[in-house]
Amino acid sequence: MSTDPAIELPFFYGSISRSDAEQHLKLAGMSDGLFLLRQCLRSLGGYVLSVVWNLEFHHYPIEKQLNGTYCITGGKPHCGPAELCEFYSKDPDGLVCTLKKPCLRSPDTPIRPGVFDNLRDNMLREYVRQTWNLEGEAMEQAIISQAPQLEKLIATTAHEKMSWYHRKITRQEGERRLYCGAQPDGKFLVRDRDESGTYALSMMYGKTVYHYQILQDKSGKYSMPEGTKFDTIWQLVEYLKMKSDGLVTALGEPCVNGKAAEEKKPAPPATRRQNGYTPPPQALIAALTTQVSIPTDREVLPMDCSGFNPYHNPNEVRKFNIKRNQLLIDEVELGSGNFGLVKKGVLKTEKGQIDVAVKVLKSENDTAVKEEMMREAEIMYQLSNPYIVRMLGLCNAESLMLVMEMASAGPLNKYLFANKSTLTVENIVNLMHQVSLGMKYLEEKNFVHRDLAARNVLLVSQQFAKISDFGLSKALGADDNYYKARSSGKWPLKWYAPECIDFHKFSSKSDVWSFGVTMWEAFSFGGKPYKKMKGNEVMSFIKEGNRLDCPSACPERMYTVMKECWTYKHEDRPDFKKVEESMRSYHYSISSKAKPEEAAAAAGPV
Ligand code: ADP
Ligand code: MG
Repeated sequence: MSTDPAIELPFFYGSISRSDAEQHLKLAGMSDGLFLLRQCLRSLGGYVLSVVWNLEFHHYPIEKQLNGTYCITGGKPHCGPAELCEFYSKDPDGLVCTLKKPCLRSPDTPIRPGVFDNLRDNMLREYVRQTWNLEGEAMEQAIISQAPQLEKLIATTAHEKMSWYHRKITRQEGERRLYCGAQPDGKFLVRDRDESGTYALSMMYGKTVYHYQILQDKSGKYSMPEGTKFDTIWQLVEYLKMKSDGLVTALGEPCVNGKAAEEKKPAPPATRRQNGYTPPPQALIAALTTQVSIPTDREVLPMDCSGFNPYHNPNEVRKFNIKRNQLLIDEVELGSGNFGLVKKGVLKTEKGQIDVAVKVLKSENDTAVKEEMMREAEIMYQLSNPYIVRMLGLCNAESLMLVMEMASAGPLNKYLFANKSTLTVENIVNLMHQVSLGMKYLEEKNFVHRDLAARNVLLVSQQFAKISDFGLSKALGADDNYYKARSSGKWPLKWYAPECIDFHKFSSKSDVWSFGVTMWEAFSFGGKPYKKMKGNEVMSFIKEGNRLDCPSACPERMYTVMKECWTYKHEDRPDFKKVEESMRSYHYSISSKAKPEEAAAAAGPV
């Protein structure tokens, strides 16, 4: 996985050497202004622009600044490599000439990954594993959905998680720790230097300990004296493992900080289980009641919420009956729907209490409605994904009640409408990407939702969305790829694809259509689709080839995805695998760029 913002540029070659770059330019004809972009092998996140002029090569390093902007030394800052290249294609601004012709990568030349790409990936995994105690599928989901946010976090705090980081110890204590046990060359640790907020590196060589001060320049970058500069301590350390860069030798094995190792001990048995072992509900509840403490200076990520991963294995999802005396039902109504009311409640367990949402059946004697709710529970019981509301159990008392985890910020459309003025487009893209992840999961499991709409996407927090309301959902048979409804009921026609209305055929592809409408609602901050039109008017509107307009705040690329979701023929419509890819790539591309204000501030007075 890579979030390199240059990844989509057809003239970006990745981590190739200078001579490889020259070879590509030669093959492409050596015309004046012919250029390509490659990853910088020395500075992280930086690039090199290689340009031909007068049959000669010119290589310009592009540095990534701490605020996320990019510039050629002495040049103007730009918010991404694409913007930078576009700028220099109009104005040479100090280069030998303007960029005239991109040297395009041929299909048999893939982008070459850099040394740090894999490393960054491993770091991310390690960080997620340690911070949220996630493994397997939950870890994958966390990384896919929050990669840009995680990379920012890691850049500043990752060294604190490293076994070689010993926090504030004296030089003498550092020596003592290094002399403990085996003393191979290159054994090292990093410690805080006095009160100055700077760091020191202590390492073993020839049975002697050497100490180095880690320098930090005005812009906050770390380096060894006259060495390569890095944004973070851990990147510097990784680099020094490959290259001595002025040290007596390259770094070898870490001197492990016993304290740090202790903090990393596996989770208590409640959350870590062997395959095949069915946990008692208490264990599951315990996992749900565990709250991670979050540093106050960052936004709350989905993984900080207990609902992200209460189960460690989808097979562990077990329906169980909740006893009436375990359940406190509040008078507060969260919402109302076809079945009756959804009320706020508290589920009491030996391990603690958790907030829950309780769907209370209206007419207890109506067996048809009761069966309908049982079917909804049956579907939910089979699902386990961070982006889907989980069912905790059923309680059969004064009426039949479906107990679910609580998504306290409520339905997406209402939330967006109420917080219009403060929400950013990035935030909405992040949430809709999460919805696409949840839908991709449903598609893989062969379930059709049939009622995907912004009103049925609930928010746990501003950064965490979950799909809910499985009242109309169906599990498809192994050999079926659609569900055929016998009769049309109270259908959300404005969200339905043409084949649903014409032939009563429901599939993941028709959910894709609904996803498009949901996106439209989201980017309209909870606006109503096809405003005044009636259901049947919408049908003819669509048949005539019309579609909803692009909402004013909606980025062009997101509207393109919507229009793809509204492909008339379901055979030609993308599936959720494809939709999620598009959402992911856009989410990553906007989150890794600097905000325009920051870029402007970096440019300073001219
Ligand atoms: P219906 O099938 O009747 O539309 P929903 O499942 O959509 O029922 O629930 C109706 C409303 O109840 C939702 O719009 C929401 O406001 C509230 N609600 C439902 N489930 C939850 C939940 N898990 N957490 C918080 N609120 C919920
Ligand atoms: Mg609903």
